[in-house]
Amino acid sequence: MIDFEALYGISYGLYIVSSGNQNRGNGFISNTVFQVTAEPPRFAICCNKDNYTSEFIKSTGLFAVSILEINTPQEIFTRFGYKSGREMDKFNGINIRYTENGVPVVLDHALSFIECRVENTIDMDTHWLFTARLLHSEMIDGSLQPITYQYYREVKKGLSPKNAPTYIDISKLKQTTMKEDKAEYKCCVCGYIYDEAENDTKFENLPVDWACPLCGAGKEDFLKL
Ligand code: FE
Repeated sequence: MIDFEALYGISYGLYIVSSGNQNRGNGFISNTVFQVTAEPPRFAICCNKDNYTSEFIKSTGLFAVSILEINTPQEIFTRFGYKSGREMDKFNGINIRYTENGVPVVLDHALSFIECRVENTIDMDTHWLFTARLLHSEMIDGSLQPITYQYYREVKKGLSPKNAPTYIDISKLKQTTMKEDKAEYKCCVCGYIYDEAENDTKFENLPVDWACPLCGAGKEDFLKL
């Protein structure tokens, strides 16, 4: 049997994986970045096949990873995690640096970054698993603390979007006991939970133009749990 709750015990960081060139590039929020070998230093990332950034990684064979700090504002997660680069230029207004190889790196709220060249691309059905050699790594602000996925979930109330490798369908989680008549509502776009027990306003009494604080979806995109 699989208890999806058990998977929440696995800790992850949160990163922006970026790729492309000076003319066009894209990036997305990833929690699946990990070092594979020390000598030579190799990393692996997992990227949804539909993800716009994976097209750039496949065509250039290069990507960068910005390691995000704990106070990264929600706007960054909304822009890079819940929007598609096919519909907007995610780098617009963002502080970007290009490496010697022309790979765009997001500097905003990054404490450091790495740049890698893809060695192997492994087909994982819904995702590409890229294993890659480290080309360059650099500190941006060593005084910053890295954000973890657990912090994002517990403090910022965010969840993995549907195209993330670690997405969990929360309807599969064991239902926790409900507090009195307080209900929880889930955003079907990003997974954000509006918990009436933690808010003064019942969901149905929120104004019609109320929007999901994570992804901007409207009330109609919420499902009562
Ligand atoms: Fe949302």
